[in-house]
Amino acid sequence: MVKLKINGMEVSVDPGATVLEAAQQIGVEIPTLCWRKDLPPATSCMLCVVKNVKTGQLLPSCSAPAVDGLEVETDCEEVLEARRDILNLLLSEHVGDCEAPCRRICPASLDIPSMLRKIGDGDTEAAAWIAKRDLAIPAILGYVCPAPCEKGCRRAQIDSSITIRELHRDVGRARCPSEPRTAGTAVPTFEFPMSGKRVAVIGSGPAGLSSAWKLRQLGHACTIFDGAAEAGGALLELPEEKLPRAVLVAEIESLKAAGIEFVLGTASPETTGFDAVVEPEEHKLAVKAVANGKAAAEKIDGEFQSLEPAQRFDSKIGKLRESEAQQFLANCPQAATDEMQKEAARCLHCDCRKPVSCKLRKYAEQYGAKQSFYEAVERKHIELIGHAGEVVFEPGKCIKCGLCVQITKRAGEELGLTFVGRGFNTKVKVPFNESLEDGLKKVARECVEACPTGALAFRDADEK
Ligand code: SF4
Ligand code: SF4
Ligand code: SF4
Repeated sequence: MVKLKINGMEVSVDPGATVLEAAQQIGVEIPTLCWRKDLPPATSCMLCVVKNVKTGQLLPSCSAPAVDGLEVETDCEEVLEARRDILNLLLSEHVGDCEAPCRRICPASLDIPSMLRKIGDGDTEAAAWIAKRDLAIPAILGYVCPAPCEKGCRRAQIDSSITIRELHRDVGRARCPSEPRTAGTAVPTFEFPMSGKRVAVIGSGPAGLSSAWKLRQLGHACTIFDGAAEAGGALLELPEEKLPRAVLVAEIESLKAAGIEFVLGTASPETTGFDAVVEPEEHKLAVKAVANGKAAAEKIDGEFQSLEPAQRFDSKIGKLRESEAQQFLANCPQAATDEMQKEAARCLHCDCRKPVSCKLRKYAEQYGAKQSFYEAVERKHIELIGHAGEVVFEPGKCIKCGLCVQITKRAGEELGLTFVGRGFNTKVKVPFNESLEDGLKKVARECVEACPTGALAFRDADEK
């Protein structure tokens, strides 16, 4: 056996093992992008560096052999700095949006593209859930929101923005019908686990409703207190033509059905016995009030769990060039039938297809990497390859880890994928300019699953 020390801990491994394998044996996590257990180490991303304590050198742990007497550190400041710098470099030439621009602009962060894809697929129920989950009052906001998201919609570069507000209003209304219910028609219910915590929310305006709804989703029991005899706050002041009262009532009913308790007409709320009290910050724009309410709920939940607030890393493309917009357009599904589906199917799928499993995003967050740290002279041109097949290849998101190249070679793909060009101009391509479908006849799934970023993804993937 070979004996070495990792972060001061002794570990014994078989001869021939690498430092990475030795670390994994004792549960020490080292980040990797280009490494896979069943393939020879490519040592291309270098994210797995560790420090040799005796020499001070940084080593790629995926290929460095574990040898007797070796002592390494995996998490000292020098190692963390080196990894952050590697990620900064990778991100400097990364061309992709983790999240769609419309979602970034929506103050309440509605997952607009996911909702549109569900509508486009004819799954109105799932679309309504996404709208409800993120907006608390999607039908109401469908009437009163100024729809800043539509101003940032990329589809406008081609013809006109998607009518996002109208669509979440319609799916919101379909889920919580405001027409008089026939006898025996149940209010739609939502079930959430219970954490055992109780939160008092002061005020039943959009911020209060949104706070309570988010807290319920996170498992906490909620009671909304309001001095008014009716729930809705500033929404109650809107005239019927601006916001039909039946829509307001229906959405409040749906929050009650989720288990949120309303105590109305009480000037001095009795909050003894609650684990937390939320004083919501209302705003003259209902959508901003909804965003404030969500943020307050997330803060309280973080305090319950003693967690620091986490900010998701978000790679950004910016404005598309004319020819790039056409690339996105070529990837739009066009098989919709009814008007609502047709409208939703115009969405260009600006968000990434692998926003959850992407390891580049995960490590960028973990190591505090920044896309703007090294500024590229000119942004790379966006390509979406594979319009006809089930896999989409986005070279702008490729970190040239080589996993797909190795996998197609091992599987004996007739064409497979290969590296072409040299240095900064190296690219992954199907040889002889053949199609992606021809390159990935046997191991498309394996390549998509191995790809550490959204460079290779299934067209219909919806990880969120
Ligand atoms: S590949 Fe990863 S980092 Fe790039 S856009 Fe997709 S989720 Fe973001
Ligand atoms: S095209 Fe779709 S994903 Fe892109 S900005 Fe518009 S609504 Fe959002
Ligand atoms: S496309 Fe291939 S080389 Fe590029 S990141 Fe994905 S697996 Fe690695």
